[in-house]
Amino acid sequence: MSENKYVFAMNDLPYEYNALEPYIDTDTMKYHHDKHLNTYITNLNKALEPYPQIQAMDLEQILKQPLALPNVGSVAIMRNAGGVYNHNFFFNILRAGREENAAVGNLSFRIEKQFGNFEKFKNLFTEEALKVFGSGYLWLAMDSKCILSIVPTTNQETPLSMGFQPIITIDLWEHAYYLKNQNRRNEYIDAWWHVVNWDIANRNYAACM
Ligand code: MN
Repeated sequence: MSENKYVFAMNDLPYEYNALEPYIDTDTMKYHHDKHLNTYITNLNKALEPYPQIQAMDLEQILKQPLALPNVGSVAIMRNAGGVYNHNFFFNILRAGREENAAVGNLSFRIEKQFGNFEKFKNLFTEEALKVFGSGYLWLAMDSKCILSIVPTTNQETPLSMGFQPIITIDLWEHAYYLKNQNRRNEYIDAWWHVVNWDIANRNYAACM
């Protein structure tokens, strides 16, 4: 049983449920991880049952190319594989909050080079996050030449399917913030900036060199 291969299983959060307080509350983290992620894992295992050839692939392989399956099978697998991948990625890119929080290392230099400075990047990313319509995510991702892009995805689509490697993400489904912030997505986005784990983000970026 693993996070990355059939039979897929739950992993504990890499921190306590209350670790992101006061920015993201304990109840939200409990429901989000224990209920929402668990449902995607259960449904992914179910969707993969009839397809031993896909069971042999890891999560990223499944998401990187279109599956040669009868359409109904592919849709269920891709949706739930995306739900598992996106949630694990999101939870792993967070840490206990700090008042001042900004990119570090080579990623920081790259952000300055492409966006001018961190504040400009932050403002642009925030604007794009406010624009995501319905359920989805916003990503900082890179292409094979290490060029950064701000990438929106809908529902449980992933940047992997679009040829990007993710660096950070914000889950913009209402379940990610409704318990605490209700309709105030702007408040949630402001809080999220405090809990981004820029050390892991920098490691994700380093994978491109
Ligand atoms: Mn979610």
